[in-house]
Amino acid sequence: MFRLPQAVRGFGTTFVTMFRHTATEQYPEQKKKFPPKPRFHGRHQLNRHPDGLEKCVGCELCAWACPADAIFVQGADNTDVERHSPGERYGAVYQINYSRCILCGLCIEACPTRALTMTNEYELADHSRERLIYEKADLLAPLLPGMAAPPHSMAAGATEGDYYRGQVSGATPEQMAEVEARAGGAERGSRESRGVA
Ligand code: SF4
Ligand code: SF4
Repeated sequence: MFRLPQAVRGFGTTFVTMFRHTATEQYPEQKKKFPPKPRFHGRHQLNRHPDGLEKCVGCELCAWACPADAIFVQGADNTDVERHSPGERYGAVYQINYSRCILCGLCIEACPTRALTMTNEYELADHSRERLIYEKADLLAPLLPGMAAPPHSMAAGATEGDYYRGQVSGATPEQMAEVEARAGGAERGSRESRGVA
């Protein structure tokens, strides 16, 4: 029986495929059309409580869990005049090196306070190794309406446990006033140091 040579049959497959619907996703032109799945593990985020205080307590468990040694955390004590989180400690220095991170998610599993989660942001490539080291300021969740920028006191009468039980719903007027007074004091200090009346 007559059989087409293998090469001709191969080109036939190519020819038929030319008329099939293309599955190529154009990047970056069509990236909005193909968003990542909701559970995709992208850039990390350091979360806040509803009043703006940070959830990170500087425990370093995320850094110990990381198989790529990509996280550096340095904790510090909260004080009455400078409080960043509801507990005793907060993450004073927090860095993730994205030239090492493999986006495995083990760090977020290890975090006891749900301070660390991962967003859907995946565009993390860069030409500079330095710029791939994200600092705390790059990772902190934005302040939403109703939040006050730390440092500030805990909500009056609330305990650390109340924060973790979700019983603090937003910054109180006293916390807002404290942050405004602090900002006003810093502005006055800056003007005085510059000799501005
Ligand atoms: S996602 Fe994985 S590799 Fe990246 S910082 Fe977390 S534990 Fe380390
Ligand atoms: S992100 Fe979580 S695990 Fe890491 S130092 Fe902060 S509280 Fe601890």
